[in-house]
Amino acid sequence: MNPYEVTDQGFYGPYGGAYIPEILRQCVEELRIGYRKIIDSDDFKAEYHHLLQTYVGRPSPLYRSEALSRLHGCTVYLKREDLNHTGAHKINNAIGQALLARRMGKRRIVAETGAGQHGVATATVCALFGLPCTVYMGALDVQRQHTNVEKMRLLGAEVVAVESGNRTLKDACNEALRDWCCHPSDTFYLIGSTMGPHPYPDLVARLQSVISAEIRSQLQEAEGRSCPDWLVACIGGGSNAAGTVWNYLQDDSVQMVYAEAGGKGIHSGQTAATLTVGREGILHGFRSLVMQDDDGQIIEPYSISAGLDYPGIGPLHAHLVKSGRARALAISDVEALAAAYELNCCDGILPALESAHALAALHHLSFSSTDVVVVTLSGRGDKDLETYLRHAPQQPMPDTFDEILRCVR
Ligand SMILES: *Cc1c(COP(=O)(O)O)cnc(C)c1O
Repeated sequence: MNPYEVTDQGFYGPYGGAYIPEILRQCVEELRIGYRKIIDSDDFKAEYHHLLQTYVGRPSPLYRSEALSRLHGCTVYLKREDLNHTGAHKINNAIGQALLARRMGKRRIVAETGAGQHGVATATVCALFGLPCTVYMGALDVQRQHTNVEKMRLLGAEVVAVESGNRTLKDACNEALRDWCCHPSDTFYLIGSTMGPHPYPDLVARLQSVISAEIRSQLQEAEGRSCPDWLVACIGGGSNAAGTVWNYLQDDSVQMVYAEAGGKGIHSGQTAATLTVGREGILHGFRSLVMQDDDGQIIEPYSISAGLDYPGIGPLHAHLVKSGRARALAISDVEALAAAYELNCCDGILPALESAHALAALHHLSFSSTDVVVVTLSGRGDKDLETYLRHAPQQPMPDTFDEILRCVR
């Protein structure tokens, strides 16, 4: 019996569940009853894995970084999700959910997006499958992330700018749910991370678990053992982290570290470090740790990295951290930037700002020389180029992490 397996009602310890308005009950129930049967079927698996291989480019490489290994005095591997089609791990989930939608007879997709990364992944698979797609995005985010809006529109998606509330991700989620409520028979809500009402957190974790399935066989090949000593991943809603740890949850020798967005500091009021500062509450249909004030009002999260800028956390991860199985580290904006410049210079890989949080976490850990460490590089940094240019140290780039840290602008 796996102690981390979700219960029938969607709980991981005290976290999870499905706290939804009555009007959504039937849609969520239809999905809850059907999803495992479909995604565990041979027919689904064959089509899913064929597309992962021929369309996404999987398996993604497990790359041994000589430079990081030397620097940290151990063996460091990077799981290269940045090399996937569309540049991040999100496509693994989007393809899986689109295939599920088709098998459930749904002919239309709705999604929410914050920075636009999940919106682009969803619009991409909808183009692939010829499914009409509506993406809800806060009006403020539409302004801030214009390139992604243009990409989604080029792919044929309708992008709806949401004018309610703060005009950001939370308001987009509400609008997508409202749309789903209004069109329950033909519409599928494609959620982008291990969040939302049960069964979404479990569904997304299973679709991303291909990441750790590959790590196991790639490590076996490279090191003669399938378990690393450490797994490190960045965490926003928790989908790449869930994919990274999924097939190792019961291997107690594997230490799991989550790098969350500390922003300008966990006590600065400008942070998204939910695992560190959040308290139990309900958000977007599930119980978890939530960034909230004493009256239970959601505190606007902040991070330099749009993908980690979320006031909740997947319920699986809240449970793993509170039960001591995984550990959370809050990484500041400046540390993430420095880690990105460091990897760019030493390995020629410009990581996404989100992934850079995971790389920075290595500087907070102490390793022994025989340790094998796997860091998931969730995405590539092209989308963050402007931010990197704005903050970069003057040339020549200093060559130690601490010096880079001091010179980040
Ligand atoms: C969206 C995103 C994340 C954060 O989402 P998770 O669900 O926590 O994985 C991390 N990295 C990249 C590159 C992203 O696009």
